[in-house]
Amino acid sequence: MSEGNTRVAIVGGGICGLTVRRSLMRSGFTTELFDKGRSPGGRMSRRQHGEYQFDHGAQYFTVVGSDFQELVNRWDAEKFVTPWTARIGVLKDGDWTEARTQPVRYVGVPAMNAPAKALAADADGEVHLQCRITDAVREQDGSWSLTDDRGRSYSGYRFLVITIPPAQALEILQEPTAVRATLGGAVVDPCWAVMAVFDPPLGVDWDAAFVQKGPLAWVARNGSKPGRPEHDAWVLHATPDWSRQFVEQDRPWVAAELLQAFGHALGRNLPAPAWSGAHRWRYARPRTQVPDGYLWDAALNLGLCGDWCVGGRLEGAFTSGRLLAEQIRRQAAGRPSHAAQPS
Ligand SMILES: Cc1cc2nc3c(=O)[nH]c(=O)nc-3n(C[C@H](O)[C@H](O)[C@H](O)COP(=O)(O)OP(=O)(O)OC[C@H]3O[C@@H](n4cnc5c(N)ncnc54)[C@H](O)[C@@H]3O)c2cc1C
Repeated sequence: MSEGNTRVAIVGGGICGLTVRRSLMRSGFTTELFDKGRSPGGRMSRRQHGEYQFDHGAQYFTVVGSDFQELVNRWDAEKFVTPWTARIGVLKDGDWTEARTQPVRYVGVPAMNAPAKALAADADGEVHLQCRITDAVREQDGSWSLTDDRGRSYSGYRFLVITIPPAQALEILQEPTAVRATLGGAVVDPCWAVMAVFDPPLGVDWDAAFVQKGPLAWVARNGSKPGRPEHDAWVLHATPDWSRQFVEQDRPWVAAELLQAFGHALGRNLPAPAWSGAHRWRYARPRTQVPDGYLWDAALNLGLCGDWCVGGRLEGAFTSGRLLAEQIRRQAAGRPSHAAQPS
């Protein structure tokens, strides 16, 4: 059966949305993807400041399932990712202890957004960037229409897939739908990220650490990842609790506080950085998930997916997108719905 005339709108071009797109395109669907960012990738991202470069969102990823491993092996062969053989440990009160277990940790090359770019290039179909969707409405004929923040309309989609954080999905969904309650109950923690470059370098002889005390959860020397510039560039992530408490603070204040916390964690006074900046991830790390790995409202041909449906990591985003694409294929083929509708 040809799905060529079956149009699917996908809101969100992170790994999840890109996975849905690639999977449906391979089955012959016509997809259109919308993302508010300048390039695809979402939280798999890179921040550049002049010659400095930082992975300020996802730091690395691990692999469990065979489907994801197959894709990662291909990315690895094509040099979009590579294992990060880093010295990673636990940091407390100035003491760094090497972690006992060291899973294979992959990073994008030359930055964390590389696999997203590879996924985007691996399928046809229109991609609308810098296009923030503000409304999704179901027309009388059952098709979906979207509106963006510049008032432009896009219409005629049989299926709508939303891969943005649940709170933002609620904002754009005008329709009464059975999935609203689940969306409303999903919890996604914020994360403040600070980027800093030290010149001369700090001279730390390890690459990253899970911080055990204070406002920081994670610190990493970005330059220790393959393919990065060699500056002593650091990424610091605050804990969920600290990030939530200070979510509305301004960036310079956050940068100063977290740099001071970095000094405490290292057990020494830090010199002023050559450059520093802060980025707020308002929706960073989900705490909840859903039983089927995605949400499906069969009455509306509406699907929602994302890492927040499957454990909050990169592989979760991939798995959730893959499962929802299967659901749409079943629905288009007239086979019974797999996912139970949430009550
Ligand atoms: C600080 C931090 C550290 C992390 N560390 C790790 C880690 O070490 N390992 C790991 O596996 N995972 C990590 N993660 C999680 C990982 O980044 C995510 O699991 C994964 O990238 C989620 O992909 P996604 O497609 O579900 O969502 P996203 O990547 O968030 O994609 C959603 C997309 O929707 C777009 N969007 C939002 N609203 C709209 C709108 N209204 N209209 C159009 N587009 C919109 C956004 O621009 C974005 O591109 C981390 C995340 C953060 C923030």
